[in-house]
Amino acid sequence: DEILNLRPTWLEIDLKAIQENAKKVMSYAGAKRLIAVVKANAYGHGMAAVAQALLEIGVTDFAVATVGEGVALREKLSQENVTITLLGVQDVKQTPIMVKYRLAPAVGTTAWLEEAMSQITSGQQLNVQLAVDTGMGRMGAHSEAAVKSLYDVIKSSEQLVLSGVFTHFATADDNNETYYKKQVDSFYQWVQAANIPADYWHLANSGSAIWHHNEIDTNTIRVGSVLYGYNPGTPDLPMPFELSSVLSLKSKIGSVHRLETGESVSYGATYTAEMPQWVATLPIGYADGYLRRMSGMKVLVDGHIEHVIGRVTMDQIVITLNKMYPVGTVVTLIGQDGEQKITLEDVANYAKSIPHEILTTLGPRLPRHY
Ligand code: PLP
Repeated sequence: DEILNLRPTWLEIDLKAIQENAKKVMSYAGAKRLIAVVKANAYGHGMAAVAQALLEIGVTDFAVATVGEGVALREKLSQENVTITLLGVQDVKQTPIMVKYRLAPAVGTTAWLEEAMSQITSGQQLNVQLAVDTGMGRMGAHSEAAVKSLYDVIKSSEQLVLSGVFTHFATADDNNETYYKKQVDSFYQWVQAANIPADYWHLANSGSAIWHHNEIDTNTIRVGSVLYGYNPGTPDLPMPFELSSVLSLKSKIGSVHRLETGESVSYGATYTAEMPQWVATLPIGYADGYLRRMSGMKVLVDGHIEHVIGRVTMDQIVITLNKMYPVGTVVTLIGQDGEQKITLEDVANYAKSIPHEILTTLGPRLPRHY
């Protein structure tokens, strides 16, 4: 790790900003409890460090996607009061591991529950999160009757303990609310018909907590994006409050040279100098999550804008320079430098992607500096 940390390309992660964002969204949405979504290495920010920072401000509930992530988190946070939810469908054969590490899988069918129960040794229990599919179409009970039978199986089993009941919204970040409202209505109708107490409900992802907190129960919210400081929606839905920015991506100039008129750089020789110019290489490439389609994107050198030229390669990119800069000069690819700023959203838009994808593509080769 120490050697990895020396790499002259790195992420700077502000854990205080994550703590601030957790408090901001809870207060804005009127939430008493926050389930922090820290799957995919906390959206690239480092699961252990992020979870620890959130624990320090009293967050004790976490959600990840896989059994492997859950085990890794439990090994960091063994406290009795820390809960770990597994979102997504799990292989039921891993039930003994989930029991051992106190992981609460999302469950959508009674068949899964029956199979799990057959693997739980007597005296042991599995916590479960009852998944309700109100329109996401991935997993969960999909009717009033299905919700009721899932709940009945959980209630009548001594091996199962209900941790919560939840649904996930497909369009919480959309200006058009028709589909969202349909999901909300289904959830309330089904869980109320099954008599599942409101203490168990958690519905709100970031988009819901921000734009729909008046329409749903937000006692417990289940959020990722907002913690990491970015607008989870499309650019036409502005944030109603300002988030603290969490992440910067920086690199240091590895080599500097002058291109003469007619000389080209990188694979395919797609960029050719039209006049003599200074260029530099940075030790970052698509293997780090700086995507191939970032060719042409801006970067910041000494407080001003430069550009990535030619093709992005696996481990290096080439940038323009308005004059010669020494090897080792810091270049900002995401973040602030003087008056200039490149946001995660800017990068995502340029790549025709979304911030979630950019973040979770940032590779393990990049050291995370906290
Ligand atoms: N809940 C579930 C089931 C999810 O899959 C996710 C993330 O994909 C979240 C909550 C968090 O979503 P967001 O990052 O938009 O807050």
